[in-house]
Amino acid sequence: MSFSSKTKTELCRAPLGRACCQLAEIYGVLLYAAVFSHREIRITTELPAFARRAARLLDKVFGVQVKAETVGRRRVLRITDEKALRMIMTSLGYDFKSHITYHLNRNMVENDCCAAAFLRGIFLMSGSVAGPDKKSHLEIKCSHQTLCREVMSLMLDLGIQPKLTARRTAYLIYLKDTAGIEDLLTRIGASRAAMTIMEAKIEKNLRNNINRQVNCETSNLMKTTDASARQIAAIERALTLGGIEIYPENLRETVDLRVANPAASLAELAAMFDPPISKPGLSHRLRRIMQISETLIERAGEET
Ligand SMILES: [Zn+2]
Repeated sequence: MSFSSKTKTELCRAPLGRACCQLAEIYGVLLYAAVFSHREIRITTELPAFARRAARLLDKVFGVQVKAETVGRRRVLRITDEKALRMIMTSLGYDFKSHITYHLNRNMVENDCCAAAFLRGIFLMSGSVAGPDKKSHLEIKCSHQTLCREVMSLMLDLGIQPKLTARRTAYLIYLKDTAGIEDLLTRIGASRAAMTIMEAKIEKNLRNNINRQVNCETSNLMKTTDASARQIAAIERALTLGGIEIYPENLRETVDLRVANPAASLAELAAMFDPPISKPGLSHRLRRIMQISETLIERAGEET
């Protein structure tokens, strides 16, 4: 099951709520339904739970009973009975005989509870949301531009800031910011889906931070081994040229330890001395060893 379907299944488990909210939710469903006219109402969905919920709402709000038919993978709720259509249209404040204008009647969604129920109806009908493993994205498709803008302004009133884009045959209201998506899903009753998205985001951030830290440590290690490799190369060249005697006695232990432990960091190397010496102390000794080695190597180079 896709994340969208899971989210919608969760929404279908939400209580139907107060009468005002039931009306608002079915209003959202109908405005975005496949067919919504004074001749026919047709609600099409692939989600059986949503077909059942829509049928319950039609019954509770308008007293209209309709049985879902199965057409391929889809459930279809179809109303053509004139009495039923008249009941629905007049309850929603439409003039039964004329064509429907696809406008959002703000009176129906005046309360925040109703606005949320209305958006739930719309999302169930034509929304989708990307799973937590994908880039954050939630969208609601609609073929009526005016309606789209009105729904958008309703969302803005609720503090959600969607964007609008036009596709070839439809308009899309969409959200890409995780916080906005969480907010919308929580409001309309899918708090579990919202939580799943939020947790995935936190986990991803954490993983990125760890990666960044690991990369940083790796680069420090590279620097250590780089320096060590340069030191060892110089020492070995100098040893072949002049032997251990070129180094004063107090530096010979350092020379031995460095060559024997190429991967050791400065701190690790300092701890190997008996008794251990300080890091700056070791650093100073290594610098002197490098000076002596390089001087010898340069001189040898001049002579040849
Ligand atoms: Zn309400």
